[in-house]
Amino acid sequence: MAYKNIWTLAEASQGKIKSVSYELLTRGKKLARKLDCELISVLLTNNIKKETAEELLLRGADRVYLVNAPQLEPFIVENHSRLLVDLIKKYQPAIILSAATSQGRTLMPHVAVRVHGGLTADCTELDIEEESGNLLQTRPAIGGNILATIKTPEHRPQMATVRPRSTKPAMPDNSRKGKGELIQLDYDPQLFDGRVKRIDFYQSEEEDVNIQDAEIVVAGGKGLKKKDNFALLKELAEYLGGAVGASRDAVDRDWISYPHQIGLSGKTVTPKLYIAIGISGAIQHLAGMKTSETIIAINEDPDAAIFQVADFGIIGDLFEIIPELNERLSEEVK
Ligand code: FAD
Repeated sequence: MAYKNIWTLAEASQGKIKSVSYELLTRGKKLARKLDCELISVLLTNNIKKETAEELLLRGADRVYLVNAPQLEPFIVENHSRLLVDLIKKYQPAIILSAATSQGRTLMPHVAVRVHGGLTADCTELDIEEESGNLLQTRPAIGGNILATIKTPEHRPQMATVRPRSTKPAMPDNSRKGKGELIQLDYDPQLFDGRVKRIDFYQSEEEDVNIQDAEIVVAGGKGLKKKDNFALLKELAEYLGGAVGASRDAVDRDWISYPHQIGLSGKTVTPKLYIAIGISGAIQHLAGMKTSETIIAINEDPDAAIFQVADFGIIGDLFEIIPELNERLSEEVK
C-alpha cells in the first residue's frame, strides 16, 4: 500500500473534544484539497460518545477513526504511541498533524522514531510542494531569527506538530450533516504497556496563566517603563474580564513572568480582543497575536509598527489613557 491521506490527531479529555483538534482540521483541509486526498481525524481516547466524535466530521474530516479504551485516559505516551504505530502500519497515512501541546509534543517524537517518519516540531505554516507533493513545514529556527522550511522527502509518514492557536478552528458546516464516516476501531489490549501508570498530576502555578484561552488579552511592553506599572494593566484586565500578556522586553526586564509572554518565543494567542499597550509591534511580537479578531493599539509613536495590524489605534501617552479608562470602567461596574 502506498502512503496516502492526511491524518489529524484529535485530542479529548473527559468526554470532550479539545478545540485544538478543530484547528488541525483547518490546516488539514487546505493540504487535503491540494493533494486531492482524504482528511482523516484520529481520536484515541476513552469514553467519548459517537455523537461527540461526529463533530469532527461536521467540521471537515472525511472520516474519523475512533478508539475508545480505558488505557488511553489519562494520557500515557507508551500506550498512545503503541496504538498509533499499529494504526500507521495498517493504514499508512502520508501526513500526520498533531498539536504542539504537551500531549502532541510527547507523542509525536515517540512515534516518529518507531516508524522512521520525518518530524518537524512547532510549525507555524504548512503547505504542499507542487512538483513533489511533499509537505513543506515552516517553523522558527536558530533562536527564532529565521523561518526555516523543512521537508522530509525520504520518509513516510511526514509528521508535524502545529502551534496551538496559530490558526482558527474549523467551524461546524451544517451542509456536511450526514456526510463522512465514523469508524470505531478495535484494538489489541496487549498493545498497551501495563508497566506505566499515572499516580498523580501536578500543575504548577505558572501554568495557570492561561492567556491562550482568554477572550480578551491586555498586553504591555517596554512603554510601561517599570514593573509596578503593570498594576495598571492588571486593573484594566480585571474590569474587562481578560488576562494580562506582555512583550519579550517586558518579560526580559522581569516586570512579569515568562508564561505571560506573547510572540515567536512566547505564546500564540487569538483572542476576540487584543489591547497592545506600549508595544512597538516588532515582527516577533506580531507573530504571536496578529490573528486576534480585533486589535487595539495604544502608543505615543504614530509610526509604531503595531498600528499596521491594529483595527483601532490610540496615539497618546498610556499613563494618561489607561488610568482614565480604568476610572471610567470602575464607574461602569459600580
Ligand atoms: P519597544 O520596541 O521598545 O517598544 C516600546 C513601545 O512603547 C514603543 O513603540 C514606544 O513608542 C511605546 N511607548 C513608550 N512610552 C510610551 C507611553 N508613555 N505611552 C504610549 N506608548 C509608549 N518580542 C516579543 O514581544 N515576543 C517574542 O516572543 C519575541 N521573541 C523574539 C525572538 C527573537 C529570536 C528575537 C531576536 C526577538 C524576539 N522578540 C520578541 C523581541 C522583539 O524583537 C522586540 O524587541 C520586542 O517585541 C520589543 O518589545 P516592546 O514592544 O515592549 O518594546
